Amino acid sequence: MNVYDSRRMADVLIPLGYSYTDDPKKAEVVILNTCHIREKAAEKLYSELGRYANIKEKRKTKGRTTVIAVAGCVAQAEGEQVLRRAPYVDIVLGPQTYHRLPQMVTRALSKEGENSKSARILDVDFPVEPKFDYLPEVKTEAFSAFLTVQEGCDKFCTFCVVPYTRGAEYSRPVEDIVSEARQLISCGVKEITLLGQNVNAYNGRWHSVGSGAASLAQLLYELAKIEKLELLRYTTSHPADMTDELIHAHGELDKLAPFLHLPVQSGSNDVLARMNRRHSRDDYLRIIDFLKAENPNLKLSSDFIVGFPGETDEDFLATLSLVAEVDFVQAFSFKYSPRPGTPGASMENQIPEEVKSERLTQLQALLMSKQRRFNEACVGTVMPVLLDRPGRNFGQLAGRSPYMQAVHVTAPADYIGKRVNLKVEAAFTNSLGAVFADTPLSFWSEKLERNDG
Ligand code: SAH
Ligand code: SF4
Repeated sequence: MNVYDSRRMADVLIPLGYSYTDDPKKAEVVILNTCHIREKAAEKLYSELGRYANIKEKRKTKGRTTVIAVAGCVAQAEGEQVLRRAPYVDIVLGPQTYHRLPQMVTRALSKEGENSKSARILDVDFPVEPKFDYLPEVKTEAFSAFLTVQEGCDKFCTFCVVPYTRGAEYSRPVEDIVSEARQLISCGVKEITLLGQNVNAYNGRWHSVGSGAASLAQLLYELAKIEKLELLRYTTSHPADMTDELIHAHGELDKLAPFLHLPVQSGSNDVLARMNRRHSRDDYLRIIDFLKAENPNLKLSSDFIVGFPGETDEDFLATLSLVAEVDFVQAFSFKYSPRPGTPGASMENQIPEEVKSERLTQLQALLMSKQRRFNEACVGTVMPVLLDRPGRNFGQLAGRSPYMQAVHVTAPADYIGKRVNLKVEAAFTNSLGAVFADTPLSFWSEKLERNDG
């Protein structure tokens, strides 16, 4: 979601005459968009900020101003602290107020040089009017795009900061999402990933009177009607919100990718209860059975936390046994990171760091072996892949398989933006190597002729 938000922050500044640069030395406005989900992510902010402070100093000697803004969830949670710790920061803004960036930047510029406290801006409000109503039309050159449909969370898992930093659950109206999707498609986008902290809790309304509420499944059916839209994904889902209707959509909707990221966090019922996850191990397994019954080709990935307070060896073994039981093809796994203000942080029986590390190593070895096995099983198969970016090596393009694996292929640069059938020839731990399965011979001869010409 931070990728989506960063893009939108750049969009709101365009009317002020700004354009995007990758070179911080040239930037008049630098925005660091931050994540507070784990301590490690949050700490990155301060080391990065030091770098931009130096650039700001150097630019100042040349008479150039630089506005530094800190956005996102660290800003939301630790705004005052950021201003105290980093005196060169001009703006601190939360994830729900970035539509006001133009006013903030204008104000910061007008006060620049005053060096007074009042010149610095802190805006970590949760506005009643959602920011989406104020954002300009999206523009993109990408072929695969994110689209936020839902934000915030009311679940309050005891380890998680999201309900505090992103605020209460909010779902965008159906027509607004459809119109953003159409706009993306008119820019050339072919695949859309719907985003939400708790995306399957989506509960949007229609603008048209009397149409009632819409679930994520209904939204997916609506979006699938857009003719030029080729593939839909959604992330991240909560097991408790996997409704029958949504599970059924996985069997029925051809445009829905045969892949689902469904975080389980732990395989132990005791830990799940202390995490306030609202689902048991069996509930999770049952959902997977239902999904597989609807679509036997569906593949799963998940998130895991090891070392949650009170996690015993037995609890951890239950997580390992769940992984052994379910064919996860990818996964993210983390050591529990106590987050200030969450119930987990003050629970008894915090797990020592070395135990967390040992469990993480063990879990990751198992998850990796499953991932590698799946990648190897893909060798020899043919899969449709949208080539959407240059590959790692010269002459290569890359894209994502229907199961979210990175796939590399030697291909002409003008194949970027095309969906092609690729035959997998090589499997690595984190990617696949492929060749064209059905390269039209005419294509190659056309190329040769053009080159001759
Ligand atoms: N809404 C999703 C998860 C969003 S947060 C869900 O309910 O599953 C993304 C992932 O970060 C989580 O799935 C979890 O595995 C991890 N995470 C969140 N808080 C964490 C913490 N305090 N320590 C370690 N990992 C955490
Ligand atoms: Fe965090 Fe997800 Fe739990 Fe919400 S459902 S509190 S986002 S882990």
